[in-house]
Amino acid sequence: MKLIKPGSTIGILGGGQLGRMITLAGRNMGYRFITLDPMPDSPCGQVADRQIIASYSEIEAAKELADSSDVITYEFENVNSNVAAILESTSLVPQGSELLKITQNRVREKSTLQSFNVPIAPFMVIQTEKDIRTAIDRFGLPCVMKTATGGYDGKGQWVIRNRDNISMAMEVWKKAGVEMIMEQFVPFSKELSVIVARNSLGQVKTFPVAENIHMNNILHQSIVPARITDSQRTQAEAIGIKIAESLQAVGLLAIEMFLTNDGNIIVNELAPRPHNSGHFSMDACMTSQFEQHIRTICGLPLGDTTLLSPIIMVNILGKHLNRVLEKIDQLPPAAKLHLYGKDENVENRKMGHMNLLGSTHEQIFEQIKELQIWD
Ligand code: AMP
Repeated sequence: MKLIKPGSTIGILGGGQLGRMITLAGRNMGYRFITLDPMPDSPCGQVADRQIIASYSEIEAAKELADSSDVITYEFENVNSNVAAILESTSLVPQGSELLKITQNRVREKSTLQSFNVPIAPFMVIQTEKDIRTAIDRFGLPCVMKTATGGYDGKGQWVIRNRDNISMAMEVWKKAGVEMIMEQFVPFSKELSVIVARNSLGQVKTFPVAENIHMNNILHQSIVPARITDSQRTQAEAIGIKIAESLQAVGLLAIEMFLTNDGNIIVNELAPRPHNSGHFSMDACMTSQFEQHIRTICGLPLGDTTLLSPIIMVNILGKHLNRVLEKIDQLPPAAKLHLYGKDENVENRKMGHMNLLGSTHEQIFEQIKELQIWD
């Protein structure tokens, strides 16, 4: 792959916080940035050299982005396939569109993982109402019904806990009129994630495994290093590498996993981009996930991902922001605050995150408790 040197312009499809943090990391390295997002003054637009204000599916705007950039990346996976094709034919898109296509649809994603012999929860595509009963008979209860596309933060997902919920599931399926799957419920003891970087030379590196705590289906904390055994850690990393290599992925690949009650690892989902559960790397790793992302798309060798300190990342949602600002002069000295420049303070909107470093997790948990921001 062509080496994209500092001074070149990186185009980012999407202007959210992930684009913002890619831009901030890349600016330190000497790159220029242009982003495309429909919302003026987007989190990424605020720190980029330029923002094209247009819908993500506008072909002319995508062409303008491609014409103005030496290399293109994206900060979300739901990129319109026509736009992806335009970008690929007129510009350099090292991540390609194949990985996007796979991760945009759960059926494709799960079938691909199965073909690599990666452990996943048993699932079935729902094509008729009767399939809902068949899946429940096959997998037992509880079961999880999920839309094949477009779900995030628990949206597009229903847990069927008992037989009384079956008619509710059928109603939901009928009304939604979109492709859905039914998945076996995984009794897990922890949720984990691994972010893997792979460049076009085939060099692969994992970030330290994160242990993720969700609240109301939204990521609340990432605890790193994850409190798991060495063999579980090795297993999680090996699965991550296997997926990235099997896919011949270029860029970052975030892999969400369950650690089951009997100690096995099962893959839940993939995201072909920097991930919320990797934000800890900004302050606790030799190379952050954002710098690593830039290295992969610019053809640079991958950076060292060694963890420098125990850390807990805590998300700041709209409902937490005022308390964070009230306590801005009382934050612990090793707390690193990252805010995304969003002005619309909606209850569950991700407004920023705080990385708290310390010598032990216990000490950090104590600091989080004392702050009383997330109570
Ligand atoms: P997803 O949209 O697939 O990322 O799922 C969101 C969250 O729902 C996960 O982080 C889990 O907490 C939970 N979840 C999803 N699928 C399952 C499953 N098969 N078994 C148990 N919990 C699940």
